[in-house]
Amino acid sequence: MPPTPATPPSEAAPLRPPLTIKMQARDNVAIVANDGGLPAGTVLADGLALRDRVPQGHKVALADIAAGSPVLRYGIPIGHAVSDIPAGSWVHERLLKMPDARGLEGLPVATVRPAAPAPLDGHTFEGYRNADGSVGTRNILAITQTVQCVAGVTDFAVQRIRAELLPKYPHVDDVVALEHSYGCGVAIDAPDAVVPIRTLRNISLNPNFGGEVMVVSLGCEKLQPERLLPPGSFSIVDERSVADVGADAEAALDVVCLQDDAHVGFMSMVESILRQAETHLARLNARRRETVPASELVVGVQCGGSDAFSGVTANPAVGFCTDLLVRAGASVMFSETTEVRDGIDQLTARASTPEVAEAMIREMAWYDAYLQRGRVDRSANTTPGNKKGGLSNIVEKAMGSIVKSGSAPITGVLAPGEKLQSRGLTYAATPASDFICGTLQTAAGMNLHVFTTGRGTPYGLAAVPVIKVATRSDLARRWHDLMDVNAGTIADGTATIEQVGWELFHLMLDVASGRRKTWAEHWKLHNALVLFNPAPVT
Ligand code: CA
Repeated sequence: MPPTPATPPSEAAPLRPPLTIKMQARDNVAIVANDGGLPAGTVLADGLALRDRVPQGHKVALADIAAGSPVLRYGIPIGHAVSDIPAGSWVHERLLKMPDARGLEGLPVATVRPAAPAPLDGHTFEGYRNADGSVGTRNILAITQTVQCVAGVTDFAVQRIRAELLPKYPHVDDVVALEHSYGCGVAIDAPDAVVPIRTLRNISLNPNFGGEVMVVSLGCEKLQPERLLPPGSFSIVDERSVADVGADAEAALDVVCLQDDAHVGFMSMVESILRQAETHLARLNARRRETVPASELVVGVQCGGSDAFSGVTANPAVGFCTDLLVRAGASVMFSETTEVRDGIDQLTARASTPEVAEAMIREMAWYDAYLQRGRVDRSANTTPGNKKGGLSNIVEKAMGSIVKSGSAPITGVLAPGEKLQSRGLTYAATPASDFICGTLQTAAGMNLHVFTTGRGTPYGLAAVPVIKVATRSDLARRWHDLMDVNAGTIADGTATIEQVGWELFHLMLDVASGRRKTWAEHWKLHNALVLFNPAPVT
């Protein structure tokens, strides 16, 4: 079924009464919800008159805020006033001094003990069961590359595979080349090189690729195929090879090496890739979807192009859905270290055990040091678009970002590029960069991606369906054929966080089952895999 517009485009236009949203009772600012913002002189429901024009998503002072006093949103100081701010003023970023980052010592550890929520049973989807127990939501042939040098040849071959082979294998959804910039010209033995290498390895093993691992190598590169995928790191279900060499033998890695003496001419390389691809396509084509419990979902949540509504509409709805998924026994990852760093005390408090809290602190400390090496801090995160959308600084952005993680205990922590091993809610440490976060969550084994956006981004991934959630109805209206869910209805007052959360949950089961495509899939919008390489380049 093709996607449906995120929302019936509202005929809108009737002038709506002034609408502001305050997150917590003690907040001394609220954000303006009206499309186009509100002009100076507007009188709010409580009688407060605006002294300035306040753009949509931006903050208005609800009370006089003296210079040096905290500006409170989400019940916490998102900054301190640099001068007196009279009630009714537009509280823009230049009026705020950002608080210092919370230290990583003396944090509350595993202090929040929510009552175990009722299990959510009976929800299923149609997925592809893999030999290793994981479940795919798509049936895709991936061609792994050891090094960027082979990208052009592989891409040429992939275009021919799409045109000549895929029509013969109708149960295979697509063929994708796992192109990346790594593999040579890098300090391959640097301690941090483990991050990009395990990321590439684990992406090759993503559940949507059905356990079929096929590699194109150049020959002379630093990242040799055996280093990328050492024996035992993967298993190929190929009865013939097992019968030939005995069940105890390691599965042989299927590698097409371009510098191999056997290749004479470019077409020889291309034909070799096509020949190998066909054996994998035949096996993938024999697979069928089967009914599996919702607990087999491995969902990565992320936001990008955020605005002040992200933390009011889309992210809380995603957080509600995260809780539903955890209750259903599924796996959910939240990430974006610089966007959760300012809420570290909330996160360590929600850790299920002291070990989980310590692992989170370790990842944050590593990232603090990484940023320090580049002589920046977490304030480098916010973008001009974030600020235009009303987010003054990273503290305000972080409070709105963390709500994607819902309220469940945090039971797991992953370092960048590691593969997820447990169910429940996991903090997968990644940069906030949309492409790098998506790449690392793909490596972790994500089979479905949820992405919220306020400013708007056409983000998509080739390997995993991406469900995009708009934070504002205006964005959902203008980008009606790019956004899958409109959470702006929450700010409009026409839907609740719970309703949008359930809508998202049911859409996830439909998309996972292949019954629905996302708009990014429909238009084939794919961003590049972007590796996180904290190690030196040579
Ligand atoms: Ca992001």
